[in-house]
Formats: sequence, C-alpha cells, structure tokens
Amino acid sequence: MKFIVLGSGTSVPHARRSSSGFWVETETGSVLLDCSPSVIHRMAQEKLDWVNLDAIWISHFHLDHCGGLAPFLFGTKHAPQTQNRTKPLKIFGAKGLKNLLASFDGAYNYNLFKQPFPLEIVEVEPLEKFEILPGAVADALKTPHTDESLSIRVRDKNDKTIVFTADTGFEKAFRSFAKNVDLFVLECSFFKNKPVELHLELAEAMYLIRHAKPKRAVLTHFYPEWDAVDFKAEIEKFSPPCEVIEAYDGLSFII
Ligand SMILES: [Zn+2]
Ligand SMILES: [Zn+2]
Repeated sequence: MKFIVLGSGTSVPHARRSSSGFWVETETGSVLLDCSPSVIHRMAQEKLDWVNLDAIWISHFHLDHCGGLAPFLFGTKHAPQTQNRTKPLKIFGAKGLKNLLASFDGAYNYNLFKQPFPLEIVEVEPLEKFEILPGAVADALKTPHTDESLSIRVRDKNDKTIVFTADTGFEKAFRSFAKNVDLFVLECSFFKNKPVELHLELAEAMYLIRHAKPKRAVLTHFYPEWDAVDFKAEIEKFSPPCEVIEAYDGLSFII
C-alpha cells in the first residue's frame, strides 16, 4: 500500500498546504480519500494516474473535503485521457452524497452523471462493511463533526490497514477503531486551546495515538497557526508509542 498526501491543509488558503486529499494505492487499485478543490490538480502535479482512479471516499460535505468532486467529474467527462476508459469510478460517502452531487449538477446543465465510463455513487452506513476496491474492505465510524461525517478504515488484500479520521472532534471510539492499524491518519487542526469542539488539538490526537497504538501515525488538516510550531519538539513531549509524522503536501511512503 502506498500513501501520498495531496493536501495537508484546510479551507484557509495557504501557500504550502492544499485542502484535504490523500491518495492510497493498493495492488488492486487506488482510492482518493477526500476530494478538495485543489486535489484534482495536485493529483496531476504528483504524476498520479488520475485517469484510472478506481474510487473516491468523501468523509463529509464541507467544501474543503468534497468541493473538487464536481470539477473532477466535469474534467473526466471532457478530458481526452478519459474518453476510452471503460472501468467504473465509484464514489463512496455518507447518506446525502447523491443529493449533494445532484445539487452541484443541477446548478447548471453539466450532466455530470453521464461520463464516458460507468459512475457509481454509493452511500454507506456507519459500521457497514463495503468493498472499496477489489479485495479491499472498508468500514466507517460516525464522528462528532457534522451530521454526516465519517471516518474510514480500509484493509487491503495484503491485510495492510489504514484509518483516516477526517475532520472530527474528540472521539474515544478511535482507540478501538484504529487499534494496531498500520497507518493512523488524524486531523490535528489546532495546536492547543482549540477554539471549537468539532476538531482535534495535539494533546487529543496524541491521546488517541497512545491508546490505538498504530504502527505509524500522520497528523494533518493543519490550520495556519501550526506554521509557528516546532512539530518534532512538541511531539516528543508526549513520548509517542510510534513514529508521528507531520503531513505535508507531497509526503509519500509505503505502508
Ligand atoms: Zn476540513
Ligand atoms: Zn469539516
């Protein structure tokens, strides 16, 4: 399994951090976790095979996580590279995803659902298992952020596991949901004294890592206040049980 950070930031424009998106490549296909407006061009910048992308996961309907969907489908509808594609593209997310896409589509005569290839929109329920890629099974955890927000856990054909919290407030269920996973990707919007309940700050993210004991953890979704923080020094104060990596756009490694 290969993991590539496309966007480590938020909806606030930032010179080095695009909004949310992560490319996960497995032996049996690739899935994009969140599709922010900037991500569709970030895939091309990283020379990723977006033409043959198999699946997209939408964690929730905030625009820094789903705002690239309609522009991407507008692109794939007309791009010369996708005209001969035959395999389906599957888009997964919470109940309401179909409505969301229909609203984008209805804003103008886009016909986004009519693609050169089959398009499948799949709405999932929390804790319902679904095949996100051939041989790769996923399930979702309800998170305290928006009504529909979900975290996802993916297990690929080779039993490598990844959990992506997406945006979330503090939720103890992550201690078991992310238990011993190979990669735990957590939002860590704020350094400390978070101004809202619906995101995590460093001490909370580190608590979840300490209890879930993943093999590796990545923190992401950084608001600009993080720019002034010495990430490594602050992480060390928590004596983490595993490597805890600061996401940056372009970070990539094999799980
Ligand atoms: Zn966000
Ligand atoms: Zn959000």
